[in-house]
Amino acid sequence: MDRERQQELREKDRQYVWHPFTQMKDYAAQDHVLIEKADGIMLYDADGKSYYDTISSWWCNVHGHGNPRIKEAIRRQLEQFDHIMFSGLTHQPGIELAEQLVQVTPDGLTKVFYSDNGSTAVEVAIKMSFQYWQQIGQQSKTNFVFMENSYHGDTIGAVSVGGVDLYHAMFKPLLFNAIRVPSPDVRQLGNERTPEREAALVADALDAVRTLFRERAHELAGIIVEPMIQAAGGMVIYPAAYLRGLRELCAQFNVHLIADEVATGFGRTGRMFACEHAGISPDILCLSKGLTAGMMPLAATLCREEIYAAFYDDYATQKTFFHGHSFTGNPVACAVALESLRLFRDEAVLEQSQAAANTLTEQMNTFTSLPHVADVRQLGMIAALDLYRDPETRTPFASDLRIGTRMYHAGLAEGLILRPLGDTIYYWLPLCTTPSQIEDIVERTQRVLRQVTAPLS
Ligand code: PMP
Repeated sequence: MDRERQQELREKDRQYVWHPFTQMKDYAAQDHVLIEKADGIMLYDADGKSYYDTISSWWCNVHGHGNPRIKEAIRRQLEQFDHIMFSGLTHQPGIELAEQLVQVTPDGLTKVFYSDNGSTAVEVAIKMSFQYWQQIGQQSKTNFVFMENSYHGDTIGAVSVGGVDLYHAMFKPLLFNAIRVPSPDVRQLGNERTPEREAALVADALDAVRTLFRERAHELAGIIVEPMIQAAGGMVIYPAAYLRGLRELCAQFNVHLIADEVATGFGRTGRMFACEHAGISPDILCLSKGLTAGMMPLAATLCREEIYAAFYDDYATQKTFFHGHSFTGNPVACAVALESLRLFRDEAVLEQSQAAANTLTEQMNTFTSLPHVADVRQLGMIAALDLYRDPETRTPFASDLRIGTRMYHAGLAEGLILRPLGDTIYYWLPLCTTPSQIEDIVERTQRVLRQVTAPLS
């Protein structure tokens, strides 16, 4: 695209568009990357410059951009029919996808409720759990529990169970009351991290839940959790034992375990679903992002039969789940999700990505010797590290240095889309990333890191 047209578009961008999670005054002062093409893990701007999409376009993209089989599935579905309402009408892609989801997700989840983004998958879970307890005569079970540092989306219900003050505190007057419990944030252990200390931290975090459940389970509908990794809260990977403990407590005290796998679902952690690391099944499961391999907006909330059964009655009993969205069960998105699941099977995607994940482990180890780096961590194709002024004492850089923002800009010059969370640098790689691409990404990131931190040492 010629430069003049690019500038014209950028001007219109400044004039008309309000971007998410963006301070628009900062934004307006810069020329932003105008993407013109995407292929595999690469994005290309209007000048033809390439960038590694190291965060899978906000953790969505699974098989790389522009996968030909997915593009063909979109075309095939559009030739048949486009969007139709999913209430009173039904369709093959929506039906088949529900059947497949019940098969591939952890045991015991039998019904699929569609929506169209991660936040609404969470809203559906909250309302479903709430209404369930109302309908089985346990009207006092109206409260929800969430973890410190959790993130479940930006709609009001999802924010009510959000634990990242930067995003959530401002909206407090608008939110329903929910109860915060500590998260087993293993980063607290600093350099003293050993399996015994981790186990003690997990035990403490579970004790807090146990105490709460003992005292107030009669008021509690559910506890919502991001399995294995608190993503937006800083890419905190925590031990599977915590999830196993939560599963037991929820069963013992009759509280729903709601697993938000919007981000972790569909292979990103090395298993199809992160709950599998702990060998547990939730009562309600939220999915989106990778559900369509990140190619179309779609979400699903799955639940156990017992929950569904509490809504299944004569109309006159008013037990209908009065919830739905215009784009519920969009057939094109369902067709894409089905094709993505076929790809997982036909191309043994999970098995293939294991080799790449091993390379990622080796490569992440090379960060440990760099200055300012601490807490290098990884789960499958997700990896992160934290930058500190002094990593020994975990003394942070002054926040006005905006290290993450500097890394982002320097990353662009090196052909990397990095999108740090504060001073946490992370990758959330598509499963198609090859070992040699990972080596290249890490080499570039280390150049960026040296460039950004050297003047501050
Ligand atoms: N849950 C989790 C765990 C997430 O990471 C996100 C988004 N990053 C959401 C819910 C919300 O999804 P969406 O942005 O599609 O509304």
